[in-house]
Parts: sequence; structure tokens; C-alpha cells
Amino acid sequence: MGEIAVTFNEREFSREQQELFNGRQLLLNQLPTEVSERLWANRQQLTYFQLLPAIQERHGDQVCQRCGSLVPATNRLPTGHEYCRQCLALGRVTSADYLVRLQQDYQYPHQSDCLTWSGQLTTAQQQVSDHILQQFRQQKRPEQLLWAVTGAGKTEMTFPVIAAFLAQGQRVGFVSPRVDVCNELFPRVKAAFAHCSVGLFHGQVHEQYQNEQLIIATTHQLLRFYQAFDLLIVDEVDAFPYAGDPMLQRAVATAVKPQGNRLYLSATPPSQLLSAAKRKQLPLHYLARRFHGRQLPVPEVKFGKIMVGQEFSSTLQNLLRDWVQRQRRFLIFLPEIVDLAPIAQKFKQLFPQVSMATVYAADEQRATKVQNFRDEKLAVLLTTTILERGVTFANIDVLILAADHRNYSTASLVQIAGRVGRAAEFANGTVVFYSEYYTLKMRRAVRMIRHLNTQGGF
Ligand SMILES: [Zn+2]
Repeated sequence: MGEIAVTFNEREFSREQQELFNGRQLLLNQLPTEVSERLWANRQQLTYFQLLPAIQERHGDQVCQRCGSLVPATNRLPTGHEYCRQCLALGRVTSADYLVRLQQDYQYPHQSDCLTWSGQLTTAQQQVSDHILQQFRQQKRPEQLLWAVTGAGKTEMTFPVIAAFLAQGQRVGFVSPRVDVCNELFPRVKAAFAHCSVGLFHGQVHEQYQNEQLIIATTHQLLRFYQAFDLLIVDEVDAFPYAGDPMLQRAVATAVKPQGNRLYLSATPPSQLLSAAKRKQLPLHYLARRFHGRQLPVPEVKFGKIMVGQEFSSTLQNLLRDWVQRQRRFLIFLPEIVDLAPIAQKFKQLFPQVSMATVYAADEQRATKVQNFRDEKLAVLLTTTILERGVTFANIDVLILAADHRNYSTASLVQIAGRVGRAAEFANGTVVFYSEYYTLKMRRAVRMIRHLNTQGGF
């Protein structure tokens, strides 16, 4: 490793400047000029900071030190420098760049009684939570998996675990592959740990890094952390883009301290984690019962086309009319963004009295629309699969159009079905898979939900 393991005289740095770096790995050229110039000028004397070439050779391959990806020689800029394509979203790393890392024994406050959450775990939730903490603490199992169906309250189950780490002055990260999930999580976590510093980081927020003790972030943002966390909770491990992306999986491994712990959360765990659990390499905690003790709604399958000629098919019209007449509020899922506008237009023609909006990933008003639907200012939300996870609505039904489309996986169908019946007082909602064919993925989704319903509690 041609690492310039220069470490330097950084005591002269102000506390604020040091806090900019704690647990971080940043590109030298992305830092404020006065900081980067001082680091560079002192590069021979560094002792706490680590300054290393951002792309280095390993066994004859060029490797990006930020994300661990191979950099093929064809990734070359007109300047002749190589650059990493894999982590481009966080700013370009080239062979002319340096990364700055700081591993520091930063003393966070010991947050005793930091849990300000006023809710109560059910007995089953409490048991799972205690068990997870016990395994981290006593049996030294640094990686664990919590498999909990949607609506089982898995976030709340992690609160006592988080609190135990904060109480020891340790640092905790809670990450998800999805921005929506982070946005929803942040206010809940902030309220649950009101006296602790909590930060939110993803591509659409531009808060100054404050060295927070508790971090909510997308998995992508972990590329900016280095051995930072004593506990890292990875939500939705089966979700795009985390699942199947080795770069993000490496980012998780790098962001945790060498002695740190990881807790994976999922309602539909990927097979490699389940087989690791089967081989007893990964402790698995299982909570099938939803927090209000009710079951997941089993999807009804209705067969039909969406359009016949220029109109909705009569099957679809009847279904929609029935829901509208009963004044149900509902989500309509579509597999492809191109269909949103025409289907919305048809819907408005048929039901001009119903308040409806469309939402998709790049929609600038996405957060507002989701909030309006939650506040019951909208009766119907027509959405792509961006709302398949993490979002919580009370008392709704869900219609999945073209449920046989290849864009849906078994996991996404199970997740979408899980949007229904999430509040104790409105646990009965309807989920309809609307499609022309009954695919294997649909069949598996229905089977998985039935199976989870028979499992009961812990
Ligand atoms: Zn990279």
C-alpha cells in the first residue's frame, strides 16, 4: 500500500475544525481552503489526521480509497488522471486527490436517561430489544439481524438499544438506502432522543456537519465516514440500492469502528443474510406480530386490464367507483413513471370530485404531497414504487396496478401491502393486486404474508 501515512500537528486546529473531521473521510479539495492548505503544508507532521492518495494501487489494480471500487484505466480524464465512477454522486475522486481521515477518541457525553420517547413497547417488542442488546453486550456478536414485518414497530424496538450505547458516550448511526425513510425517521428519532445531538444527512439536505452523536443518513453518505460508529443500524437491507451493491456494503463496514456493532433491519431479509442466520453466523431476531397485534392484510388478486381502448376497463372502473363511494382514501401504485400522467388524467375525468395528486422520485413537491395525503387533505395519491417502504399512513387502502409488471419484486409487493393497516384503530385495510396474470412473484408475496401472519409473536 503506497499510503502516505502522514499524521500531523493538528492540536493547533480549533475545536470546530477538529469536529469537522471526527469520524470522517473527506476529499482534501472539498474542504475550506484555509483548512486544506494548513493540512497540506503540515502533511509531514500529522499524527491524528491521515492524509492518503484517494486512488491507490493494490495488487496491480487501481482502487478508490473512499468507496473501495476498482478504477479501470479507461476511467481517465483529459488531464490524464484516473477517476472513480462508482462514488461519483458524492463528488469526483481522482488520482490527483487526497482523502483526509480523522480517527480520534472523541468524548461524547454519557447520555444517561436520554430516551425521551413516551411510547411503550409491547412485551414481545421489549423481549426482542433486550435480547439484541444482550447479544451485543455479553456474547460479543457484532452483527445481528432483526426480521420484523412492516408495522411491527421495528424502529421503536431499536430505541432502548440506541439509548444504551448513548449512555456509554458512544456514537450511533441509523442509515437507510432511501431518502424518504431518512426524512420520516429523523423527526421521530429527534423526539425520542430530545437531549442528544441528532444529524440528518442525505443528498437533498445541506446541513453543516456538527459532529452529532446520533446520525440519520442514507447508506451513500457513509462513504464520508470512517470508523465513526460504535453502533450502526442499517434499515431496509433488502432495498434498492443497498441490496446487491457491494460498494454500499463496504461503506457500512468502513463506517463502523473496528470494535463496533451492526444491526440489520428488514421486513423481507435478503437470502444471503437468512442463510448466514441459518448457519448460525448471524443472530436472527424475529418479530412477526404487528404492534397492535393484528395481522397483515392478505392481498386480494383481481384480474383485469388497466385500459380498454381509451378508457379504464370496466373492472377497474367498478373497483375505483366502489372505493370512492365508500369514501376510502387510497394509494395507487404504478410500475412505471410514464403512466402516471395519463392514468391521473383518466382518473380525474371519472372522479372530478376526488382530491388526487401524483408523486414520483424526482417530484419537487414530493414531501408536501405525502404530508397532504397523511393529513387527509388528499384522498388519493397515485405513486411510483418510491412510496413502497417506510412511509406510514392511517386508515388507507392500496391498489397495485399491473402487479404482474417486472418492476415489482416479491419483496416490494410485500412491502406495499404493508402500507395498509398500520394504525391500531384502523387495522383493517384492503390491498388489491390488480393484474392480467398471476405471477410467481405475486404468489410468493401472498404466501409470505400468510406465513408471517401464522407466526404470531416473538
Ligand atoms: Zn470511489
